[in-house]
Amino acid sequence: MTDQYQHFSTTPIGKFVIKHLGLPAPVDLERYRTATPVIQGAVLLGTTAQAYFTSAIAETLRQVHANTYVVEDAGLLEQAKNADLDVSVFSPETKSPRFKAIVFDASGIHSTEQLKDIYNFFHPIARQIQTSGRVVIVGVDPDRAESVSQAIAQRALVGFVKSLGKELRKGITAQLVYAAPDAAENLASTLRFFLSPRSAYVSGQVVVVQKADVIAVDWSKPLSGKTALVTGASRGIGEAIAHVLARDGAHVICLDVEPQQADLDRVAQSIGGSTLALDITAADAGKKIAQACQQQGGLDILVHNAGVTRDKTLANMKEQFWDMVININLSAAERINHYLLEHNALNEQGRIVCVSSISGIAGNLGQTNYATSKAGVIGLVKYTAPHLKKGITINAVAPGFIETQMTAAIPFAIREAGRRMNSMSQGGLPVDVAETIAWFAAPASSGVNANIVRVCGQSLLGA
Ligand code: NAD
Repeated sequence: MTDQYQHFSTTPIGKFVIKHLGLPAPVDLERYRTATPVIQGAVLLGTTAQAYFTSAIAETLRQVHANTYVVEDAGLLEQAKNADLDVSVFSPETKSPRFKAIVFDASGIHSTEQLKDIYNFFHPIARQIQTSGRVVIVGVDPDRAESVSQAIAQRALVGFVKSLGKELRKGITAQLVYAAPDAAENLASTLRFFLSPRSAYVSGQVVVVQKADVIAVDWSKPLSGKTALVTGASRGIGEAIAHVLARDGAHVICLDVEPQQADLDRVAQSIGGSTLALDITAADAGKKIAQACQQQGGLDILVHNAGVTRDKTLANMKEQFWDMVININLSAAERINHYLLEHNALNEQGRIVCVSSISGIAGNLGQTNYATSKAGVIGLVKYTAPHLKKGITINAVAPGFIETQMTAAIPFAIREAGRRMNSMSQGGLPVDVAETIAWFAAPASSGVNANIVRVCGQSLLGA
């Protein structure tokens, strides 16, 4: 649905009113277009003494042909040279480019006193980031730190990144990527995602990357040869997920309930995929999914997107609405996972991606059933992950306000509040959720496991 306020904000009168009343000014977020570079503009790379990941970051910047700048630092220049990365030296005092992306390797910060390094690095350049720019700070997973003082200092980075995300505005995102000290080679897919326009509506997130098998991919078609199944694929976010996974090379089996068959056919036809009309709450849903995938060489990517809301305050909620929401949004996904894992029906390096919600993080008036189901999805991810074998991962997205039929039905005042109360001052699009799922689903994301990533423009709810 159209965001009329955002449209108004681009008109001369709109600009005038917004400026003088101090109203939120949403920018047109840059989104990914096929065959465009990962980063379109200059990148500033910074590091700290004894950092772990700078060479790996430099290698990714080289691979994406980033126009990279560094501050004068012999160690950093040496690491860039070793990675074959051409860099220009930049001095904050002289006239310099405005940056599209800033990557800072903060993993060398071993004490709280050293946190001054991030102040010293970011303070002079905080006004030099372009619209829809990207800030990515890479740190050491505090749970894997070498000392208590390192863990404390690394944990402190969360507050810095989340505050920066709220300050920068203009569609600029800020993320913190924690990696295990031995996971440098697993960073590439996550860096590419957060540096690119694919992460347009993801900000203020903290992601953990673990050591895992390093999988070589064709970055232009990362899902080539893979079979994906998306539940609830006939419309809304599910339709967008099907499109993005197919764009990235996967054969997509689009699943939805039988009454949605016509829309299901339309989506599948548009992406060269196939369909499976099935109610995911059916007792044999896992078996039917496994059978449908067998004909395609087995299942590589399973996206549990189907979901419903039946909002009422608890006092007014009928038992059937409680049961229905928990069953579709949570228990069905749990049962399907259980069947597929028990019957070895997910291929090696399989990817399970669930769809939670910020309602499951923050809770929401009138949504005890929905929030319970979506908090349960977070539990499903967290407690399943340690039991997975064969390189299989499980992660979830937690969308905030996404422009769909679901949110169009919300009363005007609540809808406007939901739309604006985030660092982007606008709602996200289904494609923003889909791009995040495609990153989780990528073979090169083997080290990304048990993460919950909000696609909410850094919503104030539950932050
Ligand atoms: P939607 O209602 O447009 O689509 C949901 C799809 O799931 C429908 O096609 C529906 O037929 C299908 N479905 C429902 N029950 C099913 C069942 N038993 N078996 C198979 N398919 C079933 O919703 P949407 O806005 O696209 O949301 C998709 C997911 O994203 C949901 O899990 C939702 O909770 C979540 N989400 C949405 C938002 C948002 O702002 N739209 C925010 C947070 C989370």
